Amino acid sequence: MSRKGIDPKIVEVLEWTCRFWQDAGIYHVPVAGKRGKQPDEDFRRKSKELSDLEAELKDCTRCRLCEGRTNLVFGDGNPAAELVFVGEGPGHDEDMQGKPFVGQAGRLLTKMIRAIGLDRSQVYICNVVKCRPPNNRTPQADEIAACSPFMFRQLEIINPKVICLLGACAASTVLRSSKSISAIRGKTLKWRGINVVPTYHPAYLLRNPRAKSKAWEDFKLLYSLLKAPN
Ligand code: SF4
Repeated sequence: MSRKGIDPKIVEVLEWTCRFWQDAGIYHVPVAGKRGKQPDEDFRRKSKELSDLEAELKDCTRCRLCEGRTNLVFGDGNPAAELVFVGEGPGHDEDMQGKPFVGQAGRLLTKMIRAIGLDRSQVYICNVVKCRPPNNRTPQADEIAACSPFMFRQLEIINPKVICLLGACAASTVLRSSKSISAIRGKTLKWRGINVVPTYHPAYLLRNPRAKSKAWEDFKLLYSLLKAPN
């Protein structure tokens, strides 16, 4: 089939989405409808509260992770999002750009979001810690204790319909659980009354492509929770 005239980026996303579905043995997928428009006032209030919180973190030295950062990575996306993703911490690309999930794992996350009919601009993405741990190591307990209150404030302000926890660090921090991500993924759990779905971190999926079918199951669950009546 000729692709002349079609934006190559759109072709790439469609191809990836089809491969993702086929890898997972999925041949029929739901199509996301339009989400209700957030009232402007709600959007403005949340946007202002997030900006104020980000300003509080400016030049933060609450933990040792400040020493190696180029940029603090606060979070990105729609302040009134119905779906929030929480990851572990910034990597090299995120540290350089000051935005979460912009590297290879971020590109996979973007494709996964598109595969359930959403655009990145419709969701909000943040991490448990806002500064890059050296050599991308897992954040330590005292660093999580210092930084996670800001992630919890982000969740409180946005108050989404669904939270997706990407990987063990986000899952253990938000759910206060020591269970492995394999043990709790695919389930609908709760944080302060909000539906929470833990799943694999996209960086893990890059290293273990066979886990993508389970991640796709988790994303279908996200989709069904988003579509469910309030
Ligand atoms: S990781 Fe969080 S608490 Fe630590 S310095 Fe960065 S912003 Fe501050």
